[in-house]
Amino acid sequence: MIELDDVRKSYGAVPVLKGITASVARGEVVCVIGPSGSGKSTLLRCVNGLESYDGGAIRVNGRRVDRADRSIRAVRVQVSMVFQRFNLFPHRTALENVVEGPIFVKGERRAEAEARGRDLLARVGLAGREEARPPQLSGGQQQRVAIARALAMRPDAILFDEPTSALDPELVGEVLGVMRALAEDGMTMLVVTHEIGFAREVADRVLFLDGGVIVEQGPARRVLTEPEHPRTRDFLRRVL
Ligand code: ADP
Ligand code: MG
Repeated sequence: MIELDDVRKSYGAVPVLKGITASVARGEVVCVIGPSGSGKSTLLRCVNGLESYDGGAIRVNGRRVDRADRSIRAVRVQVSMVFQRFNLFPHRTALENVVEGPIFVKGERRAEAEARGRDLLARVGLAGREEARPPQLSGGQQQRVAIARALAMRPDAILFDEPTSALDPELVGEVLGVMRALAEDGMTMLVVTHEIGFAREVADRVLFLDGGVIVEQGPARRVLTEPEHPRTRDFLRRVL
């Protein structure tokens, strides 16, 4: 569903992605791990066209991702993104945040979008909090609203960029639990995370990115328990 073929990107003269080749198949969960500054966020942002890339190709459902092309809007509907800092509208209720995209981007009728939005909020454990505004919710609840909002677009895949890194430790589990349930339901997911336990248990495959290069990739258990590359070993020693 998502294919990256020798993807290159620089910020000015600084190369950040140096030829990334990887893929995510339908129903697969792929976790991206790697040190700060290795290019993980840039990689995700290129996949849904928030950033342009300079070389190689990214395809989603066989269609080339081109930030300058009108088709990028279709890609953004097919591939939703969940950010580290939730990015909810603070003055709108949880339900309003969830139905915004379906109504204004996809043109769904409000009544139907709201009915489905309530179902999605229930699915992420927030039944009864539909009218709460983000400042009244914990970080974990806000991130679950953001996941419901991503699901509301009926995406083919969801990209997560360190979805639990901004949370107090006691709130991490509830968000990972929702992500695990999504994975079990067959959602295609590309997840940047430092939660190695989650990656080991939920991911099909893991990519280790360092300095804009995929140093190692393979089945999650293999990469995380018997890494082949010294840089992967060193990184895992530091985060575990
Ligand atoms: P990660 O998510 O792995 O921490 P990023 O993709 O955010 O890494 O960043 C990779 C590199 O690109 C870093 O060196 C960062 O400073 C640089 N970078 C990221 N965004 C920009 C930007 N908008 N302009 C210039 N440099 C950037
Ligand atoms: Mg990042």
